[in-house]
Amino acid sequence: MLVDAAGRIAAVGADEAVPRPEGARAVDYPDALLLPGLINAHTHLELHGLRGQVEEADFFSWIQHMRRARETAGADDYLEGARAGLRECWSFGVTTVADTGTSGATVEAFAELGGRGVYYQEALGPDRRGTARAFAEVIKSVDRLLEQAPAGVAIGVSPHAPYTVGPELLAQAVGYALERGLPLAMHLAESSAEVEFVTAGRGAFADNWRERGIPLPRPARSPLAYAEVAGVLGPDLLAIHAVQADPEDVALLAETDTAVAACPRSNRRHGHGGLPLAELLGAGVRVGLGTDSAASVPDLDLLAEARAARELAGLSAEEAVRLATLGGARALGMEAEVGSLEAGKWADFCVLPLEASGTRDAGEVAGLVLEHREDCLATWVAGQRAHPEPGPGT
Ligand SMILES: [Zn+2]
Repeated sequence: MLVDAAGRIAAVGADEAVPRPEGARAVDYPDALLLPGLINAHTHLELHGLRGQVEEADFFSWIQHMRRARETAGADDYLEGARAGLRECWSFGVTTVADTGTSGATVEAFAELGGRGVYYQEALGPDRRGTARAFAEVIKSVDRLLEQAPAGVAIGVSPHAPYTVGPELLAQAVGYALERGLPLAMHLAESSAEVEFVTAGRGAFADNWRERGIPLPRPARSPLAYAEVAGVLGPDLLAIHAVQADPEDVALLAETDTAVAACPRSNRRHGHGGLPLAELLGAGVRVGLGTDSAASVPDLDLLAEARAARELAGLSAEEAVRLATLGGARALGMEAEVGSLEAGKWADFCVLPLEASGTRDAGEVAGLVLEHREDCLATWVAGQRAHPEPGPGT
């Protein structure tokens, strides 16, 4: 692979087919495989410090614990977490991160360390009485982050979920994002508690709203149908989870060209079940893979998600690896920039050990990629080595 001065791929192919301009620095990885940088379509890097600390099995209790943990966390905790989370992504070969958060610390970590991807600023607040303040905070944060974001980092908006965002704030946040051309993300159709809340106004989330004197939204057929009525679905939305999706919902996602971030290990950890991945792919929905946060999963290993996705939907190894690369790029609308090793795209790649014995077909290579369970030998982002961390003078 020949990388130009801007960090894009100038040429790629067999050694003899790639030019070696005079003076170009050469880096060799014998017995290794260059894989397009992996794309983590959903995580919360600012929560990285909460790994192993939020243990509740019941989803409502887990969410409540997370809320308390967020109240005590300071800006330093978020920034420390975001830095550590980004470095962990790189160690697993992830070069593009789609992150959601409340503090914006991820954007600071991206700027400081050279991370790339999308950061969605969360909108939170069920109570209509707090809508004006919550919305003003989102606008203020987004304005600040757009100034602060380095090249290669997009800023979007994420109304958190139907059970944490009131219909008024949801409408305002979505209208604002569409008007400004900012990408959207929303946790949708994750738990059965969310289904109860949306379809029948029952369950732990509904009880919580009632106790706080907050009127419930008008019932809908399903969480995704609720999102459609609210005007959230569409090509600019990344629907996170989509576990509780029936065939009608799958058709809705396909018709509206809404992308999905699938987080199979997080769903399993919280007992939500598995998303209808085979059906979504069959319907032509753009799907990427996400780890979710370290508070939900043991690590940010995206190939572990690819293995879980493969198991869930009976995919071939090639299909699973594609989901972790080009699938994620398509889900984020970034397939012209990342997701495969092609001239013109960013030189985002990871290096995995692979014994050079004989010729292998693509399926066999993909199988070996999925077998990989350790840190990558190296990860490069936009033509710069991000992992292992470059020492002085390198
Ligand atoms: Zn999440």
